[in-house]
Amino acid sequence: MSSSTASAPSGAAISADAAGAGAGSPAATSAPRPFEVERDAASPNRNLTPLTTRIDGQGQLEVGGIALGELARRYGTPLYVLDEATLRGTCAAYRDALAAHYPGEALALYASKANSSLAITALVASEGLGLDAVSAGELLTALDGGMAPDRIVFHGNNKSLEELDLAVQRGVTVVVDNWFDLENLAALAPTAPVNLMLRFTPGIECHTHEYIRTGHLDSKFGFDPDQLEPVLKHLAGCPWARLSGLHAHIGSQIFELQPHHDLAAVLADALALARSLGHPVTDLNVGGGLGIRYVASDDPPSIQQWVRTVAEAVVAACQARGLELPRLLCEPGRSLVATAGVTLYTVGSRKEIPGIRTYLSVDGGMSDNPRPITYQSRYTALLAERPEAEASETVTVAGKHCESGDVLLKDLALPPATSGEVLAVFATGAYNASMASNYNRIPRPATVLVGDGQADLVQRRERPEELLRYDVLPERLRPVA
Ligand SMILES: *Cc1c(COP(=O)(O)O)cnc(C)c1O
Repeated sequence: MSSSTASAPSGAAISADAAGAGAGSPAATSAPRPFEVERDAASPNRNLTPLTTRIDGQGQLEVGGIALGELARRYGTPLYVLDEATLRGTCAAYRDALAAHYPGEALALYASKANSSLAITALVASEGLGLDAVSAGELLTALDGGMAPDRIVFHGNNKSLEELDLAVQRGVTVVVDNWFDLENLAALAPTAPVNLMLRFTPGIECHTHEYIRTGHLDSKFGFDPDQLEPVLKHLAGCPWARLSGLHAHIGSQIFELQPHHDLAAVLADALALARSLGHPVTDLNVGGGLGIRYVASDDPPSIQQWVRTVAEAVVAACQARGLELPRLLCEPGRSLVATAGVTLYTVGSRKEIPGIRTYLSVDGGMSDNPRPITYQSRYTALLAERPEAEASETVTVAGKHCESGDVLLKDLALPPATSGEVLAVFATGAYNASMASNYNRIPRPATVLVGDGQADLVQRRERPEELLRYDVLPERLRPVA
């Protein structure tokens, strides 16, 4: 990954409208105004902040029509805030781009590992998308959230027998990742045909963090390309198996379009092979992977460009091989939810090490956002109630965990912040809540969904006492009275 310097919220990419944006002199009664001038309303993944981010009459940041400072006071911090308009905007962008650029049937499946909850499932289902799940927990969340089983695909490189049984019982499409899946499915002895997709490794390199690269040959996911023919032949002899789709996913936070273009040819070759062996394959699933803008210097393609590249490449590859057009599936995760999310923290202690660094500590950290410590990820942040004050110092924002690496933002330009102020960290809607832990027995934050001036709690904050709920103290260890 590139340098670890966090971007300062300066320059044209993130700033208020020029008119009346003078720091420190907001007109007390002025109407709210947009925040990011270079906002791309058609493709939220290209923005640093949610679509509804504005400067309110008090000069403070608001999202979904509510001041972030007010949300922090009402719900406490750390707090995950999700902007409904941005979530719906990304769903619509995928839906509309597929309709515009792909001449056949198409469906975007939300990769729910990015952020799994009943509320997000219900919202995504209401936008007409499907969903991909990778565990019993994600599957149950999808089903209970109202996602139709025939719009759910079940992934995983090591599914348990119980998980497979659940998927089969509920009529969910199973993505077969390896021979072990097939042994387990056969052991379940399904009476009705099970809808299957086959995942294989496409052998495509892309430039992203090593941990989130999945398309190159040395990956734990999917069948090796040379296993494709044997497994297709094997499946042809399984009366319980109905192979309806082929799947490949090349990685995550990808800014290049070429790998997605190349993937189409690899999938089309596999489609030709599968059909020649008698499988009624109707679906090609190209996975997810489109990147988002975390810092001003990030410049991901738009959702429209990505979909267009994929759609045109699939059409061309199928035409070249004389194949009837498949239904096109894709699985966006990060690009669907990341930009909708903002995390609010309260600033606490401050430590100045002269000539070295100033640490500003907040009331969360690696337990609510493990991405910086895991992937050296960078973020953008502002003071929620003084977003336009001059960023005159450089600080490192640290979490409260017992780990020196528990740093959320390195070298962030910020106005001198005092304890009690609210820090808003942007683009935290993906792989934050879903990757959160209870490290140091710190409760996981609440999530609120905001829109049209209304906030709804969609995930309740954990309480410290609740973290003891699964502990069992054996009788012989009990303190004697
Ligand atoms: C992680 C993953 C996705 C989503 O990836 P994003 O980069 O978040 O879009 C889609 N499909 C599969 C199989 C995945 O593992």
